[in-house]
Amino acid sequence: MPASEPIANPSSSPSPDPVMPANAARPVAVVIVAAGSGSRAMRAGEAPKQYRPVAGVPVLERTVSVFVSHPRVTDVVCAISSEHAGLFQPIADRFAGRPVFRGGVTGGATRQSSVRAGLEALARAGFDGHVLIHDAARPFLTHAVIDRCLERLTEASAVVVSLPVVDTVKRADADGRVEATIPRQGLWTAQTPQGFRFGAILEAHRRAAAADRDDFTDDAAVAEWAGLEVRVALGDPANIKLTTAEDFERMNATLARPLDDIRVGTGYDVHSFEPGDHVTLCGVKIAHTHKLNGHSDADVALHALTDAILGALGDGDIGQHFPPTDMRWRGAASEVFLKDALARVTARGGLIAHCDISLIAEAPKVGPHREAMRARVADILGLTIDRVGVKATTNEKLGFVGRKEGIAAIATATVRLPS
Ligand code: MG
Repeated sequence: MPASEPIANPSSSPSPDPVMPANAARPVAVVIVAAGSGSRAMRAGEAPKQYRPVAGVPVLERTVSVFVSHPRVTDVVCAISSEHAGLFQPIADRFAGRPVFRGGVTGGATRQSSVRAGLEALARAGFDGHVLIHDAARPFLTHAVIDRCLERLTEASAVVVSLPVVDTVKRADADGRVEATIPRQGLWTAQTPQGFRFGAILEAHRRAAAADRDDFTDDAAVAEWAGLEVRVALGDPANIKLTTAEDFERMNATLARPLDDIRVGTGYDVHSFEPGDHVTLCGVKIAHTHKLNGHSDADVALHALTDAILGALGDGDIGQHFPPTDMRWRGAASEVFLKDALARVTARGGLIAHCDISLIAEAPKVGPHREAMRARVADILGLTIDRVGVKATTNEKLGFVGRKEGIAAIATATVRLPS
């Protein structure tokens, strides 16, 4: 990770367009505050909450995605802890092709010092414009909220995205005795993002640091302390801050996404006969006058099926993931390849809905072994047997299969991924 080096590149910020109103053309940078250890959401041994997945996607990745896909955002910086560099790297890699994403900068011991580190990195890169400061743990932010915040920034130098208080508010003492009912009129609860004129909030943070003030709980409070006028923009009740383990469980349940990105992949494979006494087809050993020649157990059916699954994922082929030159796969049971393909589906939050294999061979006879083959494939893939088809045909004595020189297999797999 580039640590504390400048991550923003001023030359790539759009230059002001004289036809556009001044604010609309201003670059918009984002500082995502992701340096915390989030101990309230953690169980022993778990990653900090911003690196934990919600419905399969790390919280920070979700948050970064919202900003890099916003048409007005020009720079996205994450203030992270150097201890989390290893957790941050895979997320940074995912956005490597997005020029707006500027990577990580090392944050400080407090939220406030982490924000300042992000602002200083932008300042070193010569950034000027508007900046949105956002907590990594609010991944459900929408573009509509960002738009409301930016719109409000056309008339103010500091904006806090907030919700009006709708519940009646009580103040209680340490024993839980209610002391007062606070009129909720004019009360708002602050969310993030909070938006600022860059120079104004940078100056406010520098002054707060110089004054040894590090107790502000949000950046609007820093702005208020510095004497800036802060205005509210309407937030979104869905823009929650993930805090406790229960928050994660609830959102995992809510976000279980429909697996309606349905893909069909095909695979084809051939292996030739050589002297031997059995073949392995669909993981089932069948006595025969020959064996199939191959680097692994030469299970032509499972190879075709593995390619069908990889094809559905658009993720290369069996030869790419398991090169025949690699001695590790010599004599390997081909279920290793199939399980690897399954793991790739699972890693993307998907499942295999169905697979179908056609064996093309003059011999041996497949019929007597068909149910064992279906059961074996279903077992390897964790499917019910009704989701596995195994069929066989001869080649009417035509071609290499007809001359009993080998066996061919064709497979299809239906894979369902999150939309
Ligand atoms: Mg093969």
